[in-house]
Amino acid sequence: METLKDKIQVLRDQFAQAVAEVRDQQALQELRNLYLSRKNGHLTRLFESMKALDPEQKPAAGQELNAIKRHVQAELDRLENKLRAPSRSGPDIDLTLPGRVSYWGSPHPVLHIKERIEQIFLRMGFSIEDGPEMETDFYNFEALNFPPHHPARDDWDTLYIDDDLLLRTHTSPVQIRVMEKRKPPIRMINPGKVFRKETPDPTHLPMFFQVEGLVVDHGITFAHLKGTLECFLKALYHERIKIRFRPSFFPFTEPSAEVDIGCTVCNGGGEECRVCKGTGWLEILGAGMVDPQVFKNVNIDPEEYSGFAFGMGIERTAMFSLQIPDLRYFYENDLRFIRQFSKK
Ligand SMILES: [Zn+2]
Repeated sequence: METLKDKIQVLRDQFAQAVAEVRDQQALQELRNLYLSRKNGHLTRLFESMKALDPEQKPAAGQELNAIKRHVQAELDRLENKLRAPSRSGPDIDLTLPGRVSYWGSPHPVLHIKERIEQIFLRMGFSIEDGPEMETDFYNFEALNFPPHHPARDDWDTLYIDDDLLLRTHTSPVQIRVMEKRKPPIRMINPGKVFRKETPDPTHLPMFFQVEGLVVDHGITFAHLKGTLECFLKALYHERIKIRFRPSFFPFTEPSAEVDIGCTVCNGGGEECRVCKGTGWLEILGAGMVDPQVFKNVNIDPEEYSGFAFGMGIERTAMFSLQIPDLRYFYENDLRFIRQFSKK
């Protein structure tokens, strides 16, 4: 009996050592055969050696042998589970980390504001027109009342492609193209990209979006211009936004006005406000009555028709309505910035 006990203890030690060395399924199978094989397994041989014992010794020996057999089987099963799913118990997964979130796509903030502006004008019965981004000198300047050496041309740092072709500096050429093709009444807006030779800084970009509008019909007055823009700005910002018109100059309108809104950041009360620089007002639109000379350039009789036009920068508008301090953020493609404006 003593010998059998010793043998079992030796076997238990050997088995523990062998288990620690198993690294894959094949080694595990070999170990299983070595101990449990019906023909020659270590345990099978111990069970056979029991036959030689005295009958009174057999029950105790049987218990010992069954115990070691259960131990070996349990250890081999545990090892098999571990090898099948190594990552579950390995150190490579940290279950305390938050899960991965997939983000919903959404329109870029500039396109989102552009769409809002379009929706407001569509509701007022305007059409949306489009035109080429590469223009001729005629459409970009001459037809809009800038003669070749007009000093107002200096206001735009133009990117010329050759002597006659250029990247449009404003979207106004689209209005000329529409008036050439279509007789009044005209009610249109023309949003699109424009280009200027600017070094990017917090308030300037070499490429940005503009939206301009044009209304031409019998009997259009400055009152129509004021009413339309007030209606638009209240719809874009809010019903109680403050609006003011200041006299200004553009070659293609007469009279002309700059349109300001009350500062959306400090609401007119902040002497140290960085957005309005303490003035309480933000310059948002340029507008005016279409100059009779522009009508003559496109064969519309200024004695019969009158009209108004206006224009605004979309990034600038987005800057004020989203309270963003630097225009360059819009085009740095930093997802941390852009995702702030995605609708969940
Ligand atoms: Zn302000």
